[in-house]
Amino acid sequence: MNTKELLNILEKTGAILDGHFLLSSGLHSNRFIQCAKLLQYPDYAKKVGVALAEKLSGLEQPDVIASPALGGIIIGHEVARALKKPHIFVEKVNGKPKLRRGFSIEPGSKFVVVEDVATTGKSIMEVVSLLRDLGGIPVAILTIIDRSDNRELPFGDIPFISLLKLTITTYEPNNCPLCKSGSPVTKPGSRNIKA
Ligand SMILES: [Zn+2]
Repeated sequence: MNTKELLNILEKTGAILDGHFLLSSGLHSNRFIQCAKLLQYPDYAKKVGVALAEKLSGLEQPDVIASPALGGIIIGHEVARALKKPHIFVEKVNGKPKLRRGFSIEPGSKFVVVEDVATTGKSIMEVVSLLRDLGGIPVAILTIIDRSDNRELPFGDIPFISLLKLTITTYEPNNCPLCKSGSPVTKPGSRNIKA
């Protein structure tokens, strides 16, 4: 799958929306990404999982795939399917990342972390730290989308690979050129909130 094919699927499924959006942070943006819109279609999820798994060729092969819940679970599972490896996920319990449900890793196992989108890399690093503490060795981090822009990601020397780099421009509401042009702001997934 090349970048153009992925963009096409993201747009077709509504996973990337261009317009004028109110983000949960309170900022306005020209773009919105919701990978769940793509991943709701198992055939597309599988294709993207295969494309991500192929990116590991030439790198050390993992023993296990791990994802942060919830965003990384579906795509992590698809990468694991393509690699014929188990998939586990990390959940938050009282704000702390934990392996639940009897999931565990053997000391010395090599793992890959898979997430849908990398923004600050925080939830990805929580998985890395937890599994490192259990004796695991990270061999790569994979995401469908890298929207870190110019932020420095906290991944250190772990190879980081994404299928698509996307920039989202955000604006303070009182200094938003889209507002100034008179375009109505929408909250993604709901109806217009301001005429
Ligand atoms: Zn605006």
